Amino acid sequence: MGGRDTTMVLLDENGVRCDGRKIDEPRRIMIKAGGLKNADGSAYIEFGDNKILVGVFGPRDVHPKHMSNTDTGILRVRYHMEPFSVSERKNPAPSRREIEISKVIKEALEPAVMLEKFPRTAVDVFIEVLQADGGTRCAALSAASVALADAGIPMRDMVAACASGKVADTIVLDINNEEDQAGQADMPIGYMPSLEKITLLQLDGILTPDEYKKCVDVGIAGCKIVYELQKKALYEKYFGKGDN
Ligand code: UDP
Repeated sequence: MGGRDTTMVLLDENGVRCDGRKIDEPRRIMIKAGGLKNADGSAYIEFGDNKILVGVFGPRDVHPKHMSNTDTGILRVRYHMEPFSVSERKNPAPSRREIEISKVIKEALEPAVMLEKFPRTAVDVFIEVLQADGGTRCAALSAASVALADAGIPMRDMVAACASGKVADTIVLDINNEEDQAGQADMPIGYMPSLEKITLLQLDGILTPDEYKKCVDVGIAGCKIVYELQKKALYEKYFGKGDN
């Protein structure tokens, strides 16, 4: 959470948020499967003003060889923000934040991917954030799941992700960048809806036990909305009139 901006009206008396949404309303979400011809699988997501492209490569040989595992395949994830993706230019060198987000996305995807079917190989997931507006890890994780499915990697389920949070003492779905900066809590959640399993849960801020439970429920409801759009994106590519 950034510094509290007490002048901004995050939630008005009619329950309308600073960007005009209701408390349980996600931002506009658009997911497209495919698009990168040199990748084995790919996806593009727009989640509010976030714009993120994901390319998946593999299963393929592991270099350096000593990183390979004879019992299972390995997943490698690189989350990268373009210097122009935020209003204040980001240093192109990998930041601690990007290293952390790469790790949490990898760990959130691992329970979904049947890596044991590909011993000694690696599946590489490259995430390029073209435009960021709060909630990039959830948007990236959702797009990465679609890109993995598009690559034909066997999966137990897709991971759908969405954040919930606390803004003006109210639990809301999908907090944007302004709400992240000025709000009270941010809880990104990754969830496998068919298996009913959470694979990512982080919390920045302070919540009571009741608020915590409500945040988890609201976040999971958001993940279910994302999940339908992930399936729709794959359906459109493989069974629709898409141009992929
Ligand atoms: N952000 C930024 N500059 C940076 C890193 C982040 O402006 O170097 C913004 C960006 O819009 C991002 C938001 O801060 O989406 C929130 O970042 P956070 O670390 O909470 O991760 P996210 O919410 O994107 O998963």
